[in-house]
Amino acid sequence: RPRVVAVTGTNGKSTTTALIGWVLKQAGLTVHVGGNIGIGVLALPEPTPDAVYVIEVSSYQLDLTTSFTPDVAILTNVSPDHLDRHGGMEGYVAAKRRIFAAQGPDAVALVGVDETWGQGVFDALHAAGRHTVSISTDPSAAGQEGYAARAGAVLKDGEVIADLSAARSLPGRHNAQNAAFAYAAARALGVSHEAAVEGLLTFPGLAHRMEAVGHIGSVRFINDSKATNADAARQALSSYPSVFWIAGGVPKAGGIADLADLFLRVAKAYLIGEAADAFAVTLGSTPHLVSKTLDAAVTAAAADAHEAFLASGVEQIVLLSPACASFDQYPDFEARGEAFRAAVLNLGAAPEATA
Ligand code: ADP
Repeated sequence: RPRVVAVTGTNGKSTTTALIGWVLKQAGLTVHVGGNIGIGVLALPEPTPDAVYVIEVSSYQLDLTTSFTPDVAILTNVSPDHLDRHGGMEGYVAAKRRIFAAQGPDAVALVGVDETWGQGVFDALHAAGRHTVSISTDPSAAGQEGYAARAGAVLKDGEVIADLSAARSLPGRHNAQNAAFAYAAARALGVSHEAAVEGLLTFPGLAHRMEAVGHIGSVRFINDSKATNADAARQALSSYPSVFWIAGGVPKAGGIADLADLFLRVAKAYLIGEAADAFAVTLGSTPHLVSKTLDAAVTAAAADAHEAFLASGVEQIVLLSPACASFDQYPDFEARGEAFRAAVLNLGAAPEATA
């Protein structure tokens, strides 16, 4: 039967799913990528025995599943999100855990163990005698059968096995974590070490995930519209020493309070949507402007970033990483990201060369 790789988690699902699809394809396998990302599962091509299906699954879908048996199942990470739909964290983790429930004895479980929730899932599977591989961003925590990730590298037993510094589209520690999952999945499906690493290096990246959309002189515009919660926005903010940050929309529980340690990196924030006033309060003395609309935010941020460049001679970043859902102003995060792109190009930006 065709083989199935399934990916779930709070953040990093789409990137990991697309990356695995890319790596397997580059290695010469027949691959179909779908699920939550791109084509729905039922619309994917008919199974052929040599095919590999790489499928992104949400916790809602897992809640409805009893006999899903992926050959490689991945839980990237678990952090509070969508809690309302699952009756709290316990219910949310229980839903995520179901991705492993019906796996057979030869199947592999790849589990992100950075938080206690993921570690708990890993420990339970390990204790049950399942083939488990841990993925950690703490090199000392990755066990015998595990991989560690730090910005720019995937490690095994403390040694760098994939140097990602030349990778086109895997910046930051979170993407190294995604790369570690993809590497482990490819290896579990019989892809050679060399082919797996080669695939990581050539991955072209996904739209709306820290996507460079254009630049005006020395101001670069980054579209991270997919960052619909504070955890995801943290990854983007951590990637730059200084940013002109566009945030807001429909806030998640806690808003951006958890990002306070990163406010030093915010040259100025431009707040949009329902969350604007609340985020302004959280930002306190961090420079900010209630822009309300994305267009106004882009215009103001571009002007301030240009001035900062003139004053410093250093390249500046305007980052859309909303830490919020989009549906107060847009149908979905894709529409929000495209609106950002349009606003940036409208100001006369040169589009970034794409793959
Ligand atoms: P998902 O499909 O789970 O929403 P994506 O791959 O689309 O995940 O990424 C969503 C956001 O999460 C992006 O803005 C990105 O910066 C951030 N992100 C990506 N990978 C990770 C990760 N491994 N851990 C935490 N955040 C991540």
